[in-house]
Amino acid sequence: MQFTVAIDGPAAAGKGTISRGIAEAFGFAHLDTGLLYRAVGRRTLDGTPPAIAAATLRLRDIARTDLRTPDVSDAASKVATRPDVRAALVAFQRDFARRDGGAVLDGRDIGTVICPEAEVKLFVTASAEVRAHRRWLELTEAGHDATEASVLEDVIARDTRDSDRADAPLKAADDAVTLDTSHLSIEDALEQACSVVRKIRENRP
Ligand code: C5P
Repeated sequence: MQFTVAIDGPAAAGKGTISRGIAEAFGFAHLDTGLLYRAVGRRTLDGTPPAIAAATLRLRDIARTDLRTPDVSDAASKVATRPDVRAALVAFQRDFARRDGGAVLDGRDIGTVICPEAEVKLFVTASAEVRAHRRWLELTEAGHDATEASVLEDVIARDTRDSDRADAPLKAADDAVTLDTSHLSIEDALEQACSVVRKIRENRP
């Protein structure tokens, strides 16, 4: 059985938690595609040119535990503007999406470019202030030293870069269901997302 759930949206909107929750509820595999760009960004910080970093990306690069820092977020969104980097990562994502047993992929261009035929498309969003607050909590809990104002600045800079790039910009697919999580608990957001998936699965021919 092939069944793809494509989840897009800006940083810290809740995509990760919702994607993992859907994968668990329906027994699908999950790919956080941001990790691919983070792993490429991390390798460029170590001195590898972006196109080479993307073309030679290995699973162990994606498994690194130092991919969630602000400098890697920034490097990831910069390499993500490059068509050569994006092109090198397409086949891996598409293969993952069509694996047997169902797959959830979250990112920025899953419903628009990587999997335009996905059975379910969700666009998960929230206000920049709410997203910056969530990211600031995550960072401080993980021991990073950051002010909420600086995190908001980073979030807005990354949103602008992701939305304004020419190749695969961040935007909702025309047929995506938008879920604004600004005023939702994570449980309610996940329940709403699962109910969209459930309805589409039940109505499949
Ligand atoms: O989702 P996450 O914040 O981990 O993604 C890091 C960066 O990778 C994003 O800011 C974006 O620039 C890039 N990205 C992308 N396309 C994707 C996933 C992530 O351009 N499908």
